[in-house]
Amino acid sequence: MGNHPTISVVAPVFNEEAILPEFYRRTSAALDALGEPWELVLVNDGSRDRTPQIMRELHAADPRVKVVDFARNFGHQVAITAGADYATGDAVVVMDADLQDPPEVIPDLLARWREGYEVVYAVRAERKGETWFKEFTAKAFYRIVYRITDIDIPMDTGDFRLMDRKVVDALKAMREKHRFMRGLSVWVGFRQTGVKYVRAERLAGETKYPLKKMLKFALDGITSFSYLPLQLATYVGFTIAGLAVLGIIATIILRLSGSEAFYGQATTLVSVLFLGGVQLISLGIIGEYLGRIYDEVKGRPLYIVREAVGFGEGA
Ligand code: UDP
Ligand code: MG
Repeated sequence: MGNHPTISVVAPVFNEEAILPEFYRRTSAALDALGEPWELVLVNDGSRDRTPQIMRELHAADPRVKVVDFARNFGHQVAITAGADYATGDAVVVMDADLQDPPEVIPDLLARWREGYEVVYAVRAERKGETWFKEFTAKAFYRIVYRITDIDIPMDTGDFRLMDRKVVDALKAMREKHRFMRGLSVWVGFRQTGVKYVRAERLAGETKYPLKKMLKFALDGITSFSYLPLQLATYVGFTIAGLAVLGIIATIILRLSGSEAFYGQATTLVSVLFLGGVQLISLGIIGEYLGRIYDEVKGRPLYIVREAVGFGEGA
């Protein structure tokens, strides 16, 4: 159908009515300057404001804007997945709709792609207008995940990246429910490189990632790519058992030598409480993994689409 797009831009959108027209204006300007056919796939992640209407207006005015309308909020990572599923371009660029990822960086990503790189991720050289708390937790998060996961996820890199068609097709085969896209797109391999950029301030509105969602996201990232939390119970178990053996020997020696040290309830109480705590934490960690396994086993679809607009018949 029509002009096959070279570039697809995928943007997940959740309650961004204040930003969407400006996002379209700047993104389409950056893409038009490239002189290649493009499409913009907007995924409405169950917005409760005028976002879906604005999307349809944008599509009516410019059919290169296409809309995937979710039946409810499925979350940022799933919205990105759906956008990539629907995108048809030879290269797919994923970016936030709040203009924190400047569309003007797209030509840089594209240039590296032309050089033969199949994943070009955008690295935040600087973040503007972020609270110190967000910046600190984000930095800490990337460093922890980097250390304990089995793959080399580049630091200070969000979901803003360009992926070759081959990479997108590989991702399509990975339907896990708790998705950490920036990890998955590294896991697939291929030739990868980074491009530095300055992360801008959110144009308007508020972050859609409150602390609770951020924590869940961090847990998804860690559990998706590391067994270390599960193995922690083993390590702590061995350490405590070892200490206990030493304690037994020490106590026997103390008693045989007639010492009265370490009598009493306090020692007992403290060690029982400590062990109880460790056991509950270990159970909780197993629970985190178990819940995720349960979600996989249910085999539900990743997302439900109310309507897909602009993809032509059969898309
Ligand atoms: N978003 C989404 N679904 C959600 C939360 C966020 O599609 O449940 C979108 C949001 O509209 C934005 C992008 O994901 O385009 C990133 O969200 P946000 O800017 O709030 O995150 P932050 O930049 O503060 O980490
Ligand atoms: Mg943002």
